[in-house]
Amino acid sequence: MFPTRDFHEKKEKTIYKLTNITFMICLTVMLIFGSLFLTDTISRDISAESFYTLSSVSTESSKAITQMLQSRVDYLNSVWLLLKEEKGDSRQERILRQQNRSSIYNFEWVGYLDVSGKGWNSIGQDVDLSQSRLFHQIMSGSICMVQSPIQTPDGCVWNGIILGIPVYDDEGTFDGFLYQVFSPKGIASLLDIGAFDGQAKFCLMEQDGAIVATSENGIFAIGENIFDRLKEEGDGNQDFAEKMEEALIESRDGGGYYSLLGEGWFGYYLPIVLQSNDAELSIGMLSTLPENLVEMRIDNIFNSVLLLLILVLFYVALLLLFLLRMQRRQKQELERLAYQDILTGEANYEAFKREFKRLQAKGGILMICDIVEFKLINRYFGARKGDAVLRELAKLFAELDGLGKTVARVSDDQFIFFFSGMKEAEVPEKCRELKEQILETLRKLYVNQSNPVFGYCVTDGTEPIERLRGQAMFAKNLAKLERALYHAYDEQAAMELTDTLLLLDEFDRTLEESGMEVWYQPKYDICHKCIGGAEALVRWRGKDGKIISPGRFIPLLEERGKTAKLDEYVFKQVCFQQKAWLEQGLPVVPVSVNISRGSLLASDIVRRYCQILDQSGADQSCVYLEITEDSVQADVVKIIKTFRQEGFYMLMDDFGKGSSNLANLRRDLFQGVKFDKSLIDLIRSEAEETVLRSTIQMVRSMGMQITAEGVEKQEQVDFLESLGCDEIQGYFYYRPMEAGAFAQLLEAEAADGRLLDEIK
Ligand code: C2E
Ligand code: MG
Ligand code: MG
Repeated sequence: MFPTRDFHEKKEKTIYKLTNITFMICLTVMLIFGSLFLTDTISRDISAESFYTLSSVSTESSKAITQMLQSRVDYLNSVWLLLKEEKGDSRQERILRQQNRSSIYNFEWVGYLDVSGKGWNSIGQDVDLSQSRLFHQIMSGSICMVQSPIQTPDGCVWNGIILGIPVYDDEGTFDGFLYQVFSPKGIASLLDIGAFDGQAKFCLMEQDGAIVATSENGIFAIGENIFDRLKEEGDGNQDFAEKMEEALIESRDGGGYYSLLGEGWFGYYLPIVLQSNDAELSIGMLSTLPENLVEMRIDNIFNSVLLLLILVLFYVALLLLFLLRMQRRQKQELERLAYQDILTGEANYEAFKREFKRLQAKGGILMICDIVEFKLINRYFGARKGDAVLRELAKLFAELDGLGKTVARVSDDQFIFFFSGMKEAEVPEKCRELKEQILETLRKLYVNQSNPVFGYCVTDGTEPIERLRGQAMFAKNLAKLERALYHAYDEQAAMELTDTLLLLDEFDRTLEESGMEVWYQPKYDICHKCIGGAEALVRWRGKDGKIISPGRFIPLLEERGKTAKLDEYVFKQVCFQQKAWLEQGLPVVPVSVNISRGSLLASDIVRRYCQILDQSGADQSCVYLEITEDSVQADVVKIIKTFRQEGFYMLMDDFGKGSSNLANLRRDLFQGVKFDKSLIDLIRSEAEETVLRSTIQMVRSMGMQITAEGVEKQEQVDFLESLGCDEIQGYFYYRPMEAGAFAQLLEAEAADGRLLDEIK
């Protein structure tokens, strides 16, 4: 079994959905990986940037501290220059005078120690530091800076910083030691840089690790040994402490991680070098930053990236939804366009086919409805009116019970119906019902000329739709040809119709090669009991020699607009035939020629016919013209009048065949009326006879001649005779016959004295 179209549609839909889902998953994965990579790169960049910022800040700060301490060293050197002078005051007095400069140089006091470790200071105290840590450093001859508890003259103890330099006399002999005592606040203010929102901490340490000064809220206390503290806090710090110690000894900078107080820290250390003459002091500065600060910054970025990612995903999802919706709408719109008739807005043939497929298994009746002469609506009322009529009809059909989408417009004015499950016996009633509804709709739109015609075929649900449509179309054409309301599909008739259609291709050639014959059907004059005239009827002799009735091909020629050519041909044949018979001395009766509506629409028809008449030399009183009642529309009235003015005898043909309108009986247009066979067939039904009787009486009262067509029975003749009908054309008297047979008949009648003298 082959997969169905539904299966393919479902498969396509599933593939489409899966593609969308896969796209979303891929996009999400890509975005996640992309953002992880981005976050990782940014994290590394942030760490590097934080480290760089910290080191830059530290370097700047260390420069300020170096400058500040170096200026103190320089000051002490300038004091030594003063002290070295041997003249004048004693050294002690000179030191005392330096106290005046304490506020300028921002120190508490300055002091001098000799090589024994004893001396005096600028606040007048004798000092003995021979036993202190400081004294041992002094003796090494280096600059020294220590943090130490200091006792002031008033007995207070505070943490001060002692910065001292060794001094030498002019011979270069070590003389002693000059120092200044100052508060660590001066240094602390230089350490309070406020970097990283105050989270970065700074401290100064002696080379052995003793903390000299720290920034506010520092993590190390003044006086404690940083190396010892770090090692105490954890084994992991060992490496950092050792590297820092080593770097400071070698006057290098460096950095690393350590942990303290249960937190991770990032530290950067650098040396601060002071110089005095040949002596040098190297102390260290440590800048440290909590690791979580960097993490926090990374987290912030990560959160921002995550937010961005969610927003992007949300946006993409929205976009996808929007696109899907748009696509669905487009699909619906396409479907609407594909399954909707643009003109009527109702279901079109494609929709019909879909619905038919769904219901066909049940079998039923497939029917085509055609509005006969719909083109007249367009012609007389305009295309807009024609469209409005089609819209109303489509609406009517769509609203009919049980039809739903099983009705659609298939072409200009043709509709197709599928009556699911309907039996053939129900068709006549359905057609009559539909006809009434259609006429009612047309009446509401003030359109009266058109009539519906139906063709149908029966299906058991196995035949393909196109074949059924073709059959229903054939049946509709048969109904049209037979001027019936409906017709079933008939294989035999269809074949004949096909033959005729093929034959039509040969029409022009046949006409040129005189393959068309003109036959004559005599009309019986009731009053004078003799042949009073005849009707010329065309006959087509096929290749097999068989005669094809005009009923089969004339409606088809009408559809192709070719009847004018035929009419003119017949008219010409009749005119020349009449003239020929006259010249041959044969009797002649008036012969009427059929003029179709198509002929009347050509404006030069009267001129052409007059010309033919003149050329033939026939007597005009022997050539009548017949125009069917349904051809008499407003647009041809003028032509008919012109024919009359030119002296033609005009007959209205087929009166009573369609929807007879007494208003069409116009004395100014026609001298005679031919009652159609359908009216004559009413004879014997009492009620209808009354109608016929009053109609004949009315026509007679108008002074018009009456011919009854299709009379086949004696009682019809009697009835018509009793009413004073003038002529009878029917098989009861004569059938149509070839020209030769007709001439012989007239001759014989004349010989028997049965023709009127004036005719002879
Ligand atoms: P029509 O003009 O009404 O012609 C009368 C038709 O009724 C003829 O059919 C004739 O044979 C038929 N008829 C006459 N008496 C009887 C009767 O007693 N019983 C029955 N059953 N039929 C009878 P025909 O010749 O087949 O022509 C059919 C129609 O074809 C004509 O109807 C006419 O409309 C058209 N037609 C024939 N020849 C021409 C023509 O040369 N030009 C045009 N435009 N139409 C023509
Ligand atoms: Mg006729
Ligand atoms: Mg007729």
